[in-house]
Amino acid sequence: MKALIYQGPGKKSLEERPTPTIQRATDAIVKIIKTTICGTDLHILKGDVPTCQPGRILGHEGVGIVDKVGEGVTTLKVGDHVLISCITSDGKCEYCKQGMYSHCLDGGWILGHKIDGTQAEYVRIPHADNSLYKLPQGIDYNAIVMLSDILPTGFECGVLNGQIQPGNTVAIVGAGPIGLAALLTAQFYSPSQIIMIDPDHHRLEVAKRLGATAIVNNKNENAVNAVMELTNKRGVDTAIEAVGIPETFVLCEDIVTAGGTIANIGVHGTKADLHLERLWSHNITITTRLVDTVTTSMLLKIVMANKINPTLLISHQFTFDKIIQAYDTFSNAADTKALKVIIDT
Ligand SMILES: [Zn+2]
Ligand SMILES: [Zn+2]
Repeated sequence: MKALIYQGPGKKSLEERPTPTIQRATDAIVKIIKTTICGTDLHILKGDVPTCQPGRILGHEGVGIVDKVGEGVTTLKVGDHVLISCITSDGKCEYCKQGMYSHCLDGGWILGHKIDGTQAEYVRIPHADNSLYKLPQGIDYNAIVMLSDILPTGFECGVLNGQIQPGNTVAIVGAGPIGLAALLTAQFYSPSQIIMIDPDHHRLEVAKRLGATAIVNNKNENAVNAVMELTNKRGVDTAIEAVGIPETFVLCEDIVTAGGTIANIGVHGTKADLHLERLWSHNITITTRLVDTVTTSMLLKIVMANKINPTLLISHQFTFDKIIQAYDTFSNAADTKALKVIIDT
């Protein structure tokens, strides 16, 4: 089969690999129909994720057809169409029982990281019963691929952790796919304002179409002043960090109002300043989380009921033989206006 291989920092290749086989009774082999590229894959390619070794097949998102099942798999059969969760979980360890699948003692984020991933024609999924979601046929799989990672991530790490309430004010720093996924799912709770902050004009325009009540281009204007202007000098009840650099985390500290919450989603590679000299007395909550994908079933129902349309997050579509071109497009988003790119196998 063909697969996209991480070859060490800055290097990747499309290569022929053996088709994966069942290793444990709880495994399934899934034939990929659609996959996508994540910002996290770019972090790996930059060398930011040393736990991902050269030779690894990348990718942790996708939709496919069950091709083989181990004898311990009880809820899925060959031919079932499935959504692949970016988080692998056994559903029975101490952390899983707390709903913290991301820290599963025999799983977590391993796909396309510590084991071979979904940017291939086939993938082995451990703990298939708990890590795959059976899909009805005839639904738009482009929309469903957005449920592998970005929608649960935006919702769990941004919206739920951010404790968004009806009438509240929200700012989302970063209008990439994850920030936009937070924007889509924040609207379940009817906040009165959702202010999107990003230096990219195109992404802000997309955010407007997806329901942002105001946009702030922090390349051209001072984002703190702009948010204060928009909120009667109060700041926002929830500030969602969806970038992952020190400046944007500090921006959240500067715009959160007393009693508010800073919900971090960004993948941080370096330390960020925490201004306790100002925040200690402001009743602020700061949250962090790796997506647990415990809301995937709920989000699946919402997408199938057409309550939100995640295909609005998709900018490009490629066939699998053009995956290198898909990476080039996705990694040059400022020029290509890329959001999520779909890859059809
Ligand atoms: Zn991802
Ligand atoms: Zn577990």
